Amino acid sequence: MFDCIIVGAGAAGGTAAYHLAKQGKSVLVLEKESLPRYKPCNGGVSPAIAQWFDFTLTPALSQKITKARLTWKMGDAVEVELSPSDSISVVQRDVFDHFLIQQAQKQGATLQDKTEVIGVEFKGERWQVNTNNGETFLARYLIAADGANGEMSKMLGLQEPKRRMAVALEVETSVPDNSTVHFEFGTLKNGYIWKFPKPNGYSLGITYFVGKEPKDLKKILTDYASQSGLELSQSQLYEYSLCLWDGDRKLHTENALLAGENAGIVDPFTAEGLRPSIFSGLKAAEAINQALDGSSDALEKYTQTIKEEWGVDMAWAQRLAGLFYRVPGIAYKVGVNLPGATNRMVQILCGEIRYSQVAERAIKRLSSKLIPGMG
Ligand SMILES: Cc1cc2nc3c(=O)[nH]c(=O)nc-3n(C[C@H](O)[C@H](O)[C@H](O)COP(=O)(O)OP(=O)(O)OC[C@H]3O[C@@H](n4cnc5c(N)ncnc54)[C@H](O)[C@@H]3O)c2cc1C
Repeated sequence: MFDCIIVGAGAAGGTAAYHLAKQGKSVLVLEKESLPRYKPCNGGVSPAIAQWFDFTLTPALSQKITKARLTWKMGDAVEVELSPSDSISVVQRDVFDHFLIQQAQKQGATLQDKTEVIGVEFKGERWQVNTNNGETFLARYLIAADGANGEMSKMLGLQEPKRRMAVALEVETSVPDNSTVHFEFGTLKNGYIWKFPKPNGYSLGITYFVGKEPKDLKKILTDYASQSGLELSQSQLYEYSLCLWDGDRKLHTENALLAGENAGIVDPFTAEGLRPSIFSGLKAAEAINQALDGSSDALEKYTQTIKEEWGVDMAWAQRLAGLFYRVPGIAYKVGVNLPGATNRMVQILCGEIRYSQVAERAIKRLSSKLIPGMG
């Protein structure tokens, strides 16, 4: 009998496990894969996440990004130097997620990997968690942190997040410049391509943000990689779901919470998922800790906190995306090519400013280019 069972040992699950165990609560993490495991993800992560841990993340960070290079149809480049406080890190998800879980284990959390949760039942104020290898576990509370493809939201009777396709391409090659991230617009009309350096190559990703799923995201990404000079004989292509924020949702039910990507919290303008997943893992742990200590409305407040501290900004990001990816050519000229605009985007990623502070002005500026007189 545990205080809390956490389903999924990804970024959200590891964060929640660490913070709950640190508060002295008994925690069991169930993970279906064998750890460390690869998760299709390009691993770009905001420096803002450091504030949510009281240990250094340095051993789990593989590169520091100090420059961003943005292009429109592979030309018209804009280069931005990132200030030291704004330097984005790149993580290898097998290393990073395992590191978080190890920190949780040091605080007393129990991990059982190679164990898939196949069903949950709320019986007599306890969750009974059933696994694929026939074991059953009991806990007072449950955190579902099972990611974009997870089934836990459905099992808990909560709304499932909307899934869309994203593609990751991992290329093994020598990396002449390991401090620059590339963002390519225009090659995909309703989305963009990103390319992060990693220790032995590049990690590229693509997704779309508005309208219908493009016919061949994989081909668009591999064509871009080849055209940018990468040799693809040593490469791996992965398709994976991405759950962009699409409105606030109820994230709690009887003694259980959704955290991470299955809560549908990925930024609908940039596809950033790690920072919100970690943030929600932290907030889920705080809420369950309070509930265990007797607070009767802690879980309800968790839904409210995610709405106020993340959802409000995501609503702005969604409005911005609705405009930007419908007229990407104009948007690139107005939104990217202008001095200051890209820096503000970096500041948003770094958590220094919020969408709500700048998006309205950006939308007005963009709208005025489309409909003269609107700005
Ligand atoms: C192609 C691509 C590129 C991306 N690039 C970036 C990027 O550069 N930067 C960024 O910030 N975000 C990126 N993201 C988003 C980011 O990867 C996710 O938002 C993030 O991994 C979500 O973390 P999580 O902990 O919620 O879920 P996950 O990291 O997916 O972890 C969930 C875990 O739960 C386990 N699990 C699932 N079901 C069960 C079950 N029934 N029982 C037990 N275990 C279970 C899974 O095996 C998994 O280990 C990218 C996503 C994609 C698809």
